[in-house]
Formats: sequence, C-alpha cells, structure tokens
Amino acid sequence: MSSPCVSVVRYKDPYDSLKEAIDLINGLEDFHPQDRILIKPNLVAWDFDLPFPPYGVVTTAVLMEALVKILHDAGFHHIIIGEATLNIHKKDMGLAIYKQMGFDKLEQRYGVELVDFNLDEFEDVDFGDFSLSVAKKAVHADKIINFPVLKTHNQATVSLGIKNLKGCLNRKSKMFCHHKDRDLNYMFPHIIEKLPVALTIIDGIFALEKGPAQTGKAYRKDLIVASKDPFACDVVGAKILGYDVDEVEHLKYFAKVHKIDYKIEDVEIKGEDLKTHIERIESDWEWTEDNTMPMGFKKRGISGIAIRKYDNTLCTGCSMMYNPMLILVMSAFKGEPFKNVELVSGKKQIASKGYDYTVLFGNCACKLNKDNPNIKTPIPIKGCPPKFDKIIEGLKLAGLECNYKDYEAYRHYIFSRYKKQDGFDMELYCIT
Ligand code: SF4
Repeated sequence: MSSPCVSVVRYKDPYDSLKEAIDLINGLEDFHPQDRILIKPNLVAWDFDLPFPPYGVVTTAVLMEALVKILHDAGFHHIIIGEATLNIHKKDMGLAIYKQMGFDKLEQRYGVELVDFNLDEFEDVDFGDFSLSVAKKAVHADKIINFPVLKTHNQATVSLGIKNLKGCLNRKSKMFCHHKDRDLNYMFPHIIEKLPVALTIIDGIFALEKGPAQTGKAYRKDLIVASKDPFACDVVGAKILGYDVDEVEHLKYFAKVHKIDYKIEDVEIKGEDLKTHIERIESDWEWTEDNTMPMGFKKRGISGIAIRKYDNTLCTGCSMMYNPMLILVMSAFKGEPFKNVELVSGKKQIASKGYDYTVLFGNCACKLNKDNPNIKTPIPIKGCPPKFDKIIEGLKLAGLECNYKDYEAYRHYIFSRYKKQDGFDMELYCIT
C-alpha cells in the first residue's frame, strides 16, 4: 500500500497557495465535472451583538472564495456550501454568517448554493449501535471537501477534519454525541464513515489555542494542510499544533476502528518541512487539582465557591455559555469569599455534600440533581443552554452579584488583543 500523502504549504496568496496545496496531492483527480461537491467549512458560530474575533475559530472567507474559484476554473460547477452552525440564539444563524462573510457573492459569481443545514433536511443514518440525523445534502453529495480550521479543542484536544463533520448533524444528534455513557471522542469519529469525504483542507492561516471558541487565543500560522486521506490530514494538523496521535483520544480511536497502523513517519509530506512548523499550544484551561475552580480564579484569590470542571457531556450550547458564566462569577468577586457555593453542569456531575448553595447549570444538571439529598439549597439555572438573564438571576440567588457590563468589557478586551499590523485582519473573513 502506498503511503498517504499530505501537503503542507505556506500561505502567501489565497488562490495560488491553496491551489499549490491541492495540486501537490492531486486533490481533484478523482472529481468528475458532473459531481455535486459539498464544501463543509467550520462556521461554528458568530456573535452579532458583541465583538467577535473569528481568528482560528471559523474558516476564512478568502480561502473559501479561492477554493470555489479553483473548483470553478477546473470545470466543477455544482458547488454547495453547507454548515449546521450553532443556532441557539438565532434560528437562521447559518444564513446570517454567510451574509456576514459575503458568501452571497459566491452565489452571484459562481452559482454556489448556500445551505444552512439547520433549515434544510436531515435523515437518520444508522451507525450500528446508534443513529444520527445527518444533513441530507452531505449524505447525498458526490464529493465532500472538508474545510476545517487549525484549532485545539478543550474537549476533543484538536478539532480538525474528523471533528468538523459533527457540523453536519442536527442539534439533537450533536447533543447526543455528548453522551453520558459513551464519551464524545468515541462518537463523532464515526460520522465520516457515511459521508463521501474526498478531500480535507485545513485552513491554517491561524491556529487557535484553548479552542474551539473565540475565548481561545489565536496565532498567525500561515499554513494550508491538505490530503485525500482524512486521518493523515488530521494527524499532520495535530502534529503542527504539537500533539501526537497518542494524545488525541478520537484519533487513537479512529485508527483503532479503521485498523490504521501507519505512523506520522510513514506519511509523505509534500511542500514545507513539517518539523519547522510544529509548535505546541494548549488545548484546555487549567483547573485546580481539587477541581474547585479554574487556576485563573485561584490566582485572583477567589474562594468560597467550587466550580466543577466541565466534562465531555457538556454540549456546545452549554459550553458556549460556560465561559460567560465564569466571567460573570469573576465580576461578582469583590475580595470576600463567596457563600459556600458549588456549581455543577452537564449530564454526569452529582452535586456534593457540604455546600450551602448548589447551582445547577443547564437543564441536564437540573434534571440529574433533582432529588439529590446532598443539596441544601438548589439553584436551578434552567435552559438548554441557559440564557444570560437566567445565569445572572441564578447566581444572584447564590449571593453572587454579577455585572453584565464586565462581560461586555471582557469581550471588547478579547477582540482588542488582535491587531491588524500583526496580521489579524477582519478582511480575511469577508468576500468583497
Ligand atoms: S442543557 Fe446543556 S448539556 Fe444539557 S443538552 Fe442542553 S446544551 Fe447540552
């Protein structure tokens, strides 16, 4: 068997660099002119209310436009872009993101079909011991070009091609992947088995530390990684982020399930010298050893509260509200210990004895701890996921006077960390 081949190309120009990455691996050689080609970017979320730095969080618009143009120039005209973005606050979030990023120009210029999977049809797909609702446009495409970004992930360690396909599921199935009995990392790697992924391209203009959301820290990386072999592509992407397969549970699992025994040394790398681009960045937030709070809280002297670290049962909806919740908790700290509070979340965390107030973050934690005798004063923060007003209300009942303005200030700070002169340019995220 010939060794898998992965291209690693330095990003200089959207069209030329991407074309080089694709050509080095003959990425389009199996495509036929009549193929319906689905491009699956990572457009997990956007925020239209507060400043949102998309660097390393979502696929860049400039590379998306370049990919469509490359396909068009090569004679492929049935092109669909599809994504099931996180739409907890806005039903048509996908369409809003397409508009924000100027993807409507791709519709006008190249006849690309823009599909918000959340507003389209899904079909139940059998994966043996479970089934998932997968976007019909993905299942029935002739070829899929998987187009993730180069990011770490606080639950999956890295989120590259294999993980990006979770964005083909409807919301219920995404939540199902955060199963209480079967770890997330043994669920989503199966999605690819039922999808015609012909090419994976990792948009590595930026790399994201402590991803997957905008609360992580992005670095300019200027790389494009491509392969017809989805596993090899992810292995190389993970390596660039500083992770070996052994450290990434879902890649280990994928290799085991698919009986893949080649190592990164067996992968033929075309283009850049891989080792010059490997730089380890952290995938997760550090917590205290006794699992009572993020290390950052401890350093600030926060006490009187035990916030149990999120686990893999916490789905993306609650994950997206978890960081805002932490910022709100911080805003309530005025130098005095809190009133002996515990906070639990997700589908597995059982509240412990000895706390005067127990905050149950999200419907799952509320349901699981409904009759928990350990709890003295339960404070259910309901919602799937909970909204800001409910979080602020709930924390107030536990004696935490939070200030939403501090959260807004934090979001402005996060955005202002990135400067245009350092290569963080919002124009990369808009087709003009
Ligand atoms: S409450 Fe949170 S963890 Fe539970 S299903 Fe909803 S989003 Fe997921």
